[in-house]
Amino acid sequence: MTESTKTLCPYCGVGCGLEVSPPAQHGKATNRDHEGNPIWRVRGDKTHPSSQGMVCVKGATIAESLDKNRLHFPMVRNSLNEKFRRATWEEAFDLITKRIQQVLQTQGSEAICMYGSGQFQTEDYYVAQKLMKGCIGSNNFDANSRLCMSSAVSGYIQSFGSDGPPCCYDDLELTDCAFLIGTNAAECHPIAFNRLAKYHKRNRKVKMIVVDPRRTQTAEAADLHLAIRPGTDIDLMNGMAHLLMRWGCLDTGFIDECTSNFPAFAEVIRHYSPDVVARTCGITIQDLATAARYWADSKNVLSLWSMGVNQSSEGTAKVRTIINLHLMTGQIGRPGSGPFSLTGQPNAMGGREAGGLSHLLPGYRLIKNPQHRAEVEEFWGIKPGKISPLPGLTAWDMITGLETGDVGLLWVAATNPAVSMPDIERTKAALLKSPFTIYQDAYYPTETAAYAHVLLPAAQWGEKTGVMTNSERVVTLCQSFRPAPGEAKADWEIFAEVGRRLGYVGEFAFANSAHVYNEFTQLTLGRPCDVTGISHEKLKQSPIQWPYPDNSDECKVLSAELRSNTQHSALSTRYSKRLYTDLRFATPDGRAKFGAYYSRGLAEPPDPDYPFILTTGRLYGHWHTQTRTGRIEKIRQMHPEPFIEIHPRDASSLNITENSYVEVGSRRGSARFKAKITRAIAPGTVFVPMHWGALWAENAEANAMTHPISCPDSLQPELKACAVSLALVKIN
Ligand code: SF4
Repeated sequence: MTESTKTLCPYCGVGCGLEVSPPAQHGKATNRDHEGNPIWRVRGDKTHPSSQGMVCVKGATIAESLDKNRLHFPMVRNSLNEKFRRATWEEAFDLITKRIQQVLQTQGSEAICMYGSGQFQTEDYYVAQKLMKGCIGSNNFDANSRLCMSSAVSGYIQSFGSDGPPCCYDDLELTDCAFLIGTNAAECHPIAFNRLAKYHKRNRKVKMIVVDPRRTQTAEAADLHLAIRPGTDIDLMNGMAHLLMRWGCLDTGFIDECTSNFPAFAEVIRHYSPDVVARTCGITIQDLATAARYWADSKNVLSLWSMGVNQSSEGTAKVRTIINLHLMTGQIGRPGSGPFSLTGQPNAMGGREAGGLSHLLPGYRLIKNPQHRAEVEEFWGIKPGKISPLPGLTAWDMITGLETGDVGLLWVAATNPAVSMPDIERTKAALLKSPFTIYQDAYYPTETAAYAHVLLPAAQWGEKTGVMTNSERVVTLCQSFRPAPGEAKADWEIFAEVGRRLGYVGEFAFANSAHVYNEFTQLTLGRPCDVTGISHEKLKQSPIQWPYPDNSDECKVLSAELRSNTQHSALSTRYSKRLYTDLRFATPDGRAKFGAYYSRGLAEPPDPDYPFILTTGRLYGHWHTQTRTGRIEKIRQMHPEPFIEIHPRDASSLNITENSYVEVGSRRGSARFKAKITRAIAPGTVFVPMHWGALWAENAEANAMTHPISCPDSLQPELKACAVSLALVKIN
């Protein structure tokens, strides 16, 4: 092959377009990794609308991970004490099917769980949840998006009546004020942030506010950095709302015509006087007022957030209090304004579209809605009532289900819960109890593979064709450019084969991934995420942003004409880059709903035994648990080891010096980190990156300390904060 192939970076939700060429091309020297494997050439796709040719270090180096430590064949063992032995696919499928049937007979469908991933392509998601929800009859299909974005999902649904970020990346270059809260976008969403940072630099009137307990690279670029105490986000938002109301900055026309529940919200924010809010948040009253003033003086405000907001026991409330600020000032539905969650995983959005969480069905449908269940059952041609009315187990519920013996079979694919779950020692103990665990991944070893009875080799990026949707709803075709190694198969192919062996032959008779995608799109007809006009064939021409109904091509021409005549025609809304441009929302009454929330603070505040707050986060080069990036030399050199950031005052009080080792302990466990003493972190708070599991460093797991207490609405755990003690490790 000599041509380049267009695809997508499979790391973060920015979703940058890539072009990949064979290792040696046009007479250039072949790049090789340190093991001598030829490396495919990767460059940014200049035609991709989201990234415009830019890539960060992760995207640029991805090809180096393709040939490292790949799992080539199915492997099986009878117990965790035994070594794995190679098996045929036939043997592995046979074993899996028999175990599923056994558990169905002895414990019922509710004892079967699958834990998937935002690394899945939409086709993988769709077939996996069809297998679980439509065939096995268990809604226990959840994905690692539960740990990442589920608070944004529930916040959008409660405020707007539907999931779906209303904004697009162009808004980064059209806003008058960017309000970034709980996101270190400079490191975690670098290309989206580049667009904002360049625009901000060029336009000095544009304001950037960053809210983060750490002085991150993102905060360095801001006009105003609010280093609030962890857990005081709602106080801050309600305090800003209080000031905006006091200053008469309400968009009363918008509030009256387009929203509901304003009186309840107004009653709550009455109690958030600025002096108390500033004290609670640990910032000055002047900084609080400046933030509110920037918001008030800006025609268009764009707020951006990610894990710092979502990974919280009050995550949904935090999301909704951000949205409240937009609703009270009418900052939505226009270029450069609106609430915009940045997704972590590359296809967390596609997962949401395809029903890839335990409370969802395809097409942004909800398990608890009888009409939604009936629509999906009819489409799949399965028995009415086959889909259980009960939302399935979430990621953490599966762990507790293993503890109690209620889970009889766990299938984990493309994710690494033995590092990424909260309270990791408890998680590992639960995984040890699992009667039967299937682990499906591209790599071996990983930390979770150690807990598996069956290993299934998965094709990964570049080895299968499918689609992913990024944070701005742009759908891109990720095209394969090389065969999968050994006997590895696409995830969706593995799920479909098990479905057929369970007797659902017609339901899983997919010829290829384009066929799977076509079936999925039909389930989005008339839904907010309507993609019935999209196909693999069409995506080969260019990425497409949804909504994109079947008749989009012909109507787009008409829409362009209408758009020149009117602002809020139904058609112009339908094909615009933003949602809710007609200011009608997906709620039953068409109004966006204010949320009225008092702050509850951290689920586990510091106390005399555990006097510090630990916050966790990500670094520029690494991706999650290092399954890929740990195998890339350049990134390993960039971030050679884990560390803990401590403020000089705290370090001095504990005799901790730069590079000395610190024992960090919580009620659940402990770990050791090298000290990095810095004023970038506030006194009383410490920071540890979450990337290191047992495979990459000894006793340096951030999640040894974290707890699983979750948001009651989104069921997303509070991975961002817990109470810890610190002690200097004395080395003799
Ligand atoms: Fe990949 Fe995200 Fe970097 Fe873009 S910003 S190249 S999607 S990791």
